[in-house]
Amino acid sequence: GIFYTLLTITFLAVGYLFSLRAQNWERGQPDNRRTTKKNFKHRLEAFRSGVWMRTLLRDGAAGLMHSFIYFPFLILFAVTNMVILNELMPESLKFLHGTAYQALAVTADVAGVGFLIGIGWAFFRRYIQRVYRIRIKSRPEDVVILGTFAVIGVTGFLTEAFRIALIGRPTFEKWSVVGYPLSYLFENNTHMSGWHQTFWIMHSLAFIAFLLILPTTKLRHMLTSPVNMYLSPRDRPKGAMKPLPNLETTSLESFGANVIEDFTWKQLLDTDACTVCGRCTSVCPAHATGKSLDPREIVLKVGHVMAATHPSGSVSPVVGQDAELTVSSGSVFERISSEEIWACTTCKACDDICPVNIEILDKILDMRRYLSLMESDFPSELGNAYRSMENQGNPWGMNQSERADWAKGLVGIDILDGSSPVDHEYLYWVGCAGSFDDKNKKVTIATAKLLQRAGIDFAILGPSEQCTGDPARRSGNEYLFQMLAGANVESLNGMGVKKIITQCPHCFNTLQNEYPQLGGHYEVIHHSQFLEHLIDTGRLDMTDASLDERVVYHDSCYLGRHNDVYEAPRRVIGSLKGVDIVEAPRNGNKGMCCGAGGARMWMEEHVGTKVNTERGRELLATGASRVATACPFCYIMIDDGVKEHGRDDVVVADISIHLLDALERGGSIS
Ligand code: SF4
Ligand code: SF4
Repeated sequence: GIFYTLLTITFLAVGYLFSLRAQNWERGQPDNRRTTKKNFKHRLEAFRSGVWMRTLLRDGAAGLMHSFIYFPFLILFAVTNMVILNELMPESLKFLHGTAYQALAVTADVAGVGFLIGIGWAFFRRYIQRVYRIRIKSRPEDVVILGTFAVIGVTGFLTEAFRIALIGRPTFEKWSVVGYPLSYLFENNTHMSGWHQTFWIMHSLAFIAFLLILPTTKLRHMLTSPVNMYLSPRDRPKGAMKPLPNLETTSLESFGANVIEDFTWKQLLDTDACTVCGRCTSVCPAHATGKSLDPREIVLKVGHVMAATHPSGSVSPVVGQDAELTVSSGSVFERISSEEIWACTTCKACDDICPVNIEILDKILDMRRYLSLMESDFPSELGNAYRSMENQGNPWGMNQSERADWAKGLVGIDILDGSSPVDHEYLYWVGCAGSFDDKNKKVTIATAKLLQRAGIDFAILGPSEQCTGDPARRSGNEYLFQMLAGANVESLNGMGVKKIITQCPHCFNTLQNEYPQLGGHYEVIHHSQFLEHLIDTGRLDMTDASLDERVVYHDSCYLGRHNDVYEAPRRVIGSLKGVDIVEAPRNGNKGMCCGAGGARMWMEEHVGTKVNTERGRELLATGASRVATACPFCYIMIDDGVKEHGRDDVVVADISIHLLDALERGGSIS
């Protein structure tokens, strides 16, 4: 009786504490996450992948450890409820006897063993193995959580063993494969009944303690993360930033995220779903190279400000905070420095690895919007790029009239006037790097030659093309983005452009995923996909294409994680005879950024090791004689990174250069 009363009171308290947290989420801006017929399947898949621990297995060992705790816990919870239900039933309706009882007994004991293995493993990882991402964020509450679980598991077995010993160890209890043998230890105990009761009370109190720490510690993710995962599919493509209204005409006066009320309710729910696992920390290129940014801290700090500014003031932060860290205003910048925000390369590795699909990058980009648009608080170097984009239409500050100069040595490249209708099948969108950067002009020439070889009907815009606005948008300057993108959409639509080929994943992402927000709808193809298509369809004659080299492909974040294009560039290189393809340890969706995304290309890197130096080291360690890239920024950064290690013998180049080289000269460039 007392136990059930206590349990009821505890459940009510837990409900109340969760309702306070939900009040915090309600402080956020609207975010349409409604379930519709169209997205239901996707939502269910996201939910299932969380519930079945698939997302956790992105890190094998940690995922397995967590599975040992999670699945047995669910089983034990279900078994306990069945036992309670059975007890409450009138004698005639009791269902736990015979085979059903034995099956339940063996299931519970096996699950209990798994559970204790999981808890032991978690203790080991945290306090003995001391895995970096866990060690740097261990808090006293971690001992409380693991300790509570350990007490639940151990007292569960002891209660069972004493109960079996008390009733004289009948044969049918042999199915309790742990409790039964354990009961032998207590057969001569003179206080059997007292011990049984003591362990039962301890077990019950530990369960009540578990319920109480559920809403007040990171353990709350048991409830919040499945909800978060279900809601994670968005109504915009992965690579697209949240649209903002037209800044010229809107009546809004503040943009981006500064106070809690500036985030969306989903972004706030996100923070409460965080498991504090630090997987995001472990993959962040900025963190790995000594910058102050740690994506986990971004989530936790937003969560801290949210908790501290709850109207009732009685909500616990996502995770225990040091006492000296107080929040006096509602601004997240009281906890988050602008250095952290500007260190992000927008590589999306954190979002991709997060086992509960927290949208970390979106928060960073919203904070950038606030810093850039409302405070003009951005690295001074970025100011030069902004001015160049505004005045010259490209961040390199080059004269627009020189945009098509790369084509001077080629015959038959049609340069369109942005005001006349397009009369070619494809528009080749060269991009600023491909037009002005010396290394990348070679990529443009190679791509154009390959297109010509395959007989593709294409034209370029030349001086009528200007920056897509990606660096402006990713650095928070939505005003400049809208200016550039608006002008581009107007001329592309006016010309009736339908199909666009581009070698720049940033242009690719912006044209395909973000221009629809401004009324620009095109079929955009990255040159890696197009070259793969030309090879597959035989339009590029590959008979003599050979490259006797060991090649490692470096994944571009905006092609890969932002747009899920991983195979096409590999297949292009793989189509060359004699080539030996190797992979870097971090590849595919775990690929490491080159350091230039998110407008980092136009910012200095003063702190720590350079990201490209680190990535260069990793690529060189594969023993490759060539590195293939598929992004103009990656090309520049990785080439520099490799050279910083004094390895001028390793050729870094875009896939189009390697391909053309293999076709024209059998792979003889050096
Ligand atoms: S997007 Fe990349 S650089 Fe930015 S926080 Fe995430 S992992 Fe770090
Ligand atoms: S944001 Fe995701 S990956 Fe990062 S600590 Fe939280 S749950 Fe783990």
